[in-house]
Amino acid sequence: MNDSQQYDTTLHKVVSTISDHIYVTDLSQESGTTTHFLSENIQTITGYPLETFQADPTFWQSIIHPDDQPLFLEHRAKLANQQGNEVEYRLKRADGQVVWVRDSSQVDKNADGKSGATVYGIISDITPRRKTQEALLLARDRALEASRLKSQLLANVSHDLRTPLTTILGYAQLLEMGAHGPLADKQRETISGIIKSAKYLTNLVNDLLDQAKLEDGKLKLNITSFVPSDIVNQVQSNMSVPAHTKGLTLITDIGPDVPLTVTGDPDRVQQILANLVSNAIKFTTEGTVHVRLYRPDTKHWALQVSDTGIGIPTAEQPYIFEPFRQVDTAGKSDTSGAGLGLSIVKQLTTLMGGYISLESEEGKGSIFTIHLPLIPSKTDPS
Ligand code: ADP
Repeated sequence: MNDSQQYDTTLHKVVSTISDHIYVTDLSQESGTTTHFLSENIQTITGYPLETFQADPTFWQSIIHPDDQPLFLEHRAKLANQQGNEVEYRLKRADGQVVWVRDSSQVDKNADGKSGATVYGIISDITPRRKTQEALLLARDRALEASRLKSQLLANVSHDLRTPLTTILGYAQLLEMGAHGPLADKQRETISGIIKSAKYLTNLVNDLLDQAKLEDGKLKLNITSFVPSDIVNQVQSNMSVPAHTKGLTLITDIGPDVPLTVTGDPDRVQQILANLVSNAIKFTTEGTVHVRLYRPDTKHWALQVSDTGIGIPTAEQPYIFEPFRQVDTAGKSDTSGAGLGLSIVKQLTTLMGGYISLESEEGKGSIFTIHLPLIPSKTDPS
């Protein structure tokens, strides 16, 4: 066996050990496709005998999926223009099954300088990878659709619950005011129970509605200029009673350098602060809840709520701003709530261009801080 024969035999062995199909063809506009070499793996990939492809150089194209023909023709045209190229397309196997292949080709200009090229190509069966990709895409689409339907359901149910709840609350408050005659102590006690539950449900339904709107990107802010200290004073007057009922001290503190007015959505800022303070009261059994309004730097104003309560375990801290997340803590006596408050607080803060931070130690307490941007109001002299 001479050197050239020895070389051919070695090459043949190498080619037969790999699972890809290797080909060498000439492409020219005048004489079309001329096959120089086709490896035997063409049979494994397509299910057709090697001889079929050797006898008819156009047979390869005839088994390409009709939808992928344009892609293949584009690929061929690039090769004929002497540009190496890689493309993925489907083939119809002899047994009728469809396989995905990657066709990567390098080109060598024809030595005689004419148009056309010698193409060195590798065909790899990529069906398993494609199937995994398709399954992942399908799973993602299904998850997105399920999430969209959940938000829709959340919005519809919450909306439908709100109207009758408002009516129940309204009638109960009328009765409590004595609009239908004086109440006996037992009746007053019952009505106050109804009002408390209806208020709780109304808050829950409002939170569900807000969450659904935020998820859908449909929550609109009402941006205006407002006095931030009014919000702190309002929360102080609303929350003092619940704090005192639990034996807690509620302190508010307004920094001297906070601008008199800031720009944002006052109702939403009020909602954020009320949420943080009511959590602080809920998760603290003794000590103090401290609300601070201050200016942390030249570009922000901040609201901070700190408590001396049960704290949040470090491992849970990254998750508590996700919707429906609650911490399973032994010291947690009040298990009410749907786990939506902090998720809404964070999303509202982000929507207003701010950010929230948390410092907490289990058993010692928590500090939630909201930084909001100081947007110069249109009436400010600049
Ligand atoms: P909810 O209070 O309705 O459960 P939130 O989203 O407001 O929902 O809070 C999520 C969880 O984070 C709470 O269930 C609680 O476990 C924890 N958490 C929130 N605020 C505090 C706090 N100030 N101290 C301790 N734990 C808190």
